[in-house]
Amino acid sequence: MPGASPALLQLTTPGKSSTLCVMITGLFRIIVYGLIAYLIYLIYRFFRAINQGSKQRRITKQPSGIMVKDETCNTYLPKEDAIRIQYKGKDYYFCSQECKQKFLSSHES
Ligand SMILES: [Zn+2]
Repeated sequence: MPGASPALLQLTTPGKSSTLCVMITGLFRIIVYGLIAYLIYLIYRFFRAINQGSKQRRITKQPSGIMVKDETCNTYLPKEDAIRIQYKGKDYYFCSQECKQKFLSSHES
C-alpha cells in the first residue's frame, strides 16, 4: 500500500504529532460520544423492555383467573372479583354484597 506509508511517517515525525494528536483526540471524542449515545440507547431499550414486561405480566395475570357463576343473578365474573362464601361446605361466588345477601336470605328459611 503506497498511500499508507506517508501516514505512518506522519505518526513518527515529532513536528506534526501535535496536529495528529488533536485529530486523534477529536476522533476519540467522537467515538466516546457515539458510545455514550449507544449506551443511553441501550439503557432506554432496557427500561422499555422492563415496562413492556410488567405490562405483559399484568395482562397475562388477569385471564388466568377462573370465571365463576353468581348464583343469584346468573352472571359470570372473574374469581378474584367475586365475593366468596362457603355455604354447607360448598363455595359460592357473587358479583356484589346484594347478591350474596339475596342468596343467603333465600337459603336460610
Ligand atoms: Zn350478582
